[in-house]
Amino acid sequence: MSLEGDLRSTIRNIPDYPKKGIMFHDITTLLGDARAFRRAVDELVQPWAGSKVDKVAGIEARGFILGGAVAHQASAGFVPIRKKGKLPHTTVRIAYSLEYGIDEMEMHEDAVKKGERVILVDDLIATGGTAEGAVKLLRQMGAEVLAACFVIDLPDLGGAQKLRDMDVPVRTLISFEGH
Ligand code: AMP
Repeated sequence: MSLEGDLRSTIRNIPDYPKKGIMFHDITTLLGDARAFRRAVDELVQPWAGSKVDKVAGIEARGFILGGAVAHQASAGFVPIRKKGKLPHTTVRIAYSLEYGIDEMEMHEDAVKKGERVILVDDLIATGGTAEGAVKLLRQMGAEVLAACFVIDLPDLGGAQKLRDMDVPVRTLISFEGH
């Protein structure tokens, strides 16, 4: 089966979760399928195979699972980007937009060094507000953001385009219409 079909069939789509009108794309079923999990991780980093990647940054929480596996595959370190108040050491923080209102995310101030080559990973990009915040935070610390990788793109919400407009190459594996 094609990569698209293979991965698509392992994602569980749940209508009206967490609220009416939202189709939730649940990747826990993909993660639970050994073949699909390996394939998704391999494909996410494929364009950077053989190039030097210093760090993979994962966005809480599903970005930790994929990002950890991607970091291992790329022989890179892993950097968690978390919701505010969860990291124990000195942090840098940025506000980012959610569908309704704003929230803040943070990372340790010493998690990336100036000039390090970083790939950002999350499970899904929708409006791009979360990933945009993460890119800004990484750049603020002097990182070179090589790319942002997501298993799922919701292109109708424009997030991937928003990142490309910030000169971040975006890699996504499958897309779904709507939101
Ligand atoms: P956004 O900031 O709008 O790009 O939203 C991306 C974040 O919200 C990611 O961390 C996703 O895990 C989560 N998310 C947004 N929409 C969905 C959806 N329809 N299904 C599953 N996760 C979603």
